[in-house]
Amino acid sequence: MVRGKTWFRCSCCGHVFEAWDIEDNATVFSMPMTCPKCGGKGYAIGPQGLLRRIVDKIFAMLKN
Ligand SMILES: [Zn+2]
Repeated sequence: MVRGKTWFRCSCCGHVFEAWDIEDNATVFSMPMTCPKCGGKGYAIGPQGLLRRIVDKIFAMLKN
């Protein structure tokens, strides 16, 4: 079941990317998504919302 979009962080390169949040066998855990950068496994770091604001801040800091 797809719950919407959420943030994933790659365990290999640390790249943070947005992907569909798919439930893993109807549990609360999200399916790991493939990193678009290196092909490694990305794990969900949280839904959009509170965490999105934190991630946006990090991205804003990186851009400056
Ligand atoms: Zn990666």
